[in-house]
Amino acid sequence: MDDQWVLSQRSAKNAVDVREPYAFLVENERSASGKVEPVATLFLTNKECPFRCLMCDLWKNTTDERTPVGAIPHQIALALKRLPPARHIKLYNSGNFFDTKAIPPADYAEIAALLDPFETVIVECHPKLINKRCLEFQAMLKGQLEIAIGLETAHPDILLKLNKGMDLEDFQSAVAFLNRHQINTRAFTLLKPPFLSEQDGIYWAKKTLDFAFDCGVATCVIIPTRAGNGAMDWLEANGAFSRPSIISLEKVLAYGILLQTGHVYADVWDLEYFSTCPTCIEQRRQRLTTMNHLQKILPEINCSCS
Ligand code: SF4
Ligand SMILES: [Zn+2]
Repeated sequence: MDDQWVLSQRSAKNAVDVREPYAFLVENERSASGKVEPVATLFLTNKECPFRCLMCDLWKNTTDERTPVGAIPHQIALALKRLPPARHIKLYNSGNFFDTKAIPPADYAEIAALLDPFETVIVECHPKLINKRCLEFQAMLKGQLEIAIGLETAHPDILLKLNKGMDLEDFQSAVAFLNRHQINTRAFTLLKPPFLSEQDGIYWAKKTLDFAFDCGVATCVIIPTRAGNGAMDWLEANGAFSRPSIISLEKVLAYGILLQTGHVYADVWDLEYFSTCPTCIEQRRQRLTTMNHLQKILPEINCSCS
């Protein structure tokens, strides 16, 4: 399953406009200080990521062309004008903030000036694109820079099969580099990537949290693996992938919180996709959200489905 195969499974991209973020919202998240505070998340429209990860669907809202200078500051200003106030901001660009074709370095200073009001600025980047540009951008910010990196899984063979273009050492070195320069890190980790059973999915999701914290990340996000990008749908149809259960997500979040090593959050978007029980889905969503906020384990939900 190489780049060509992943590309061959894709459908068409969505129509996007490089002068507008394709989405933006404010949600509550527990911050480094331990308080639950509003975080603005902007989904910036820019050039597609050069990697071709097996499970990625972020290409759907990207352009094929290099992002023009000025477009990203324009998108940020537009979203900030329309959003309620927040103390922290995530700039997610469907790829790598330090990919110069996606976010032109000529825009860094203007972007940093727009971010003056925020205490924390979170961007995402592949380990192979973590370099001195991160330090240049950090030096322009008033707030604390945090970089989210897709670790996905600590299972070395599955990581290879994900076509991620990195190994565990790349992740480790990127985190060490950022920690040396006082840039915070968060790891995106997958619950039950393809080729794993439910039980192995849980086991490796826990091992992945252990690995990320051993590398020195401050925060881990557990993302239940989804289909929907073509490649994953093919794997699902051919028995190599099935969606994880919301109960597995609850178990892995509880494990991560018990570690007491750093913050651990479960991704709570589209939770209906991971549940077959309409009776308890809302209770489970509420439980996961509250556990994210409190970083404490709440009593389990009693339902006939579990
Ligand atoms: S590096 Fe991130 S954005 Fe790029 S293809 Fe992989 S998962 Fe998607
Ligand atoms: Zn139920």
